[in-house]
Amino acid sequence: MAFDAMKDGDPWGPICRSCRQPIARGAAMETIRFENDPDRKLEEMNGPYHATCAKPFKSMARIINGNFWGR
Ligand SMILES: [Zn+2]
Repeated sequence: MAFDAMKDGDPWGPICRSCRQPIARGAAMETIRFENDPDRKLEEMNGPYHATCAKPFKSMARIINGNFWGR
């Protein structure tokens, strides 16, 4: 986590939130945000993902952001 916090200005580019590997410049990536996160449990999962890593999280984010559980 401490290493992750130093990512600003990292020449390797953004760190994938799933596999924690750098996302190469120009590589396919997705930015995922969990909007419906009142207790901030998902906050560290907001951010860039490799396009392939993002797949399971995208459907998760869609459910969470769509307020699947109501209210
Ligand atoms: Zn990844």
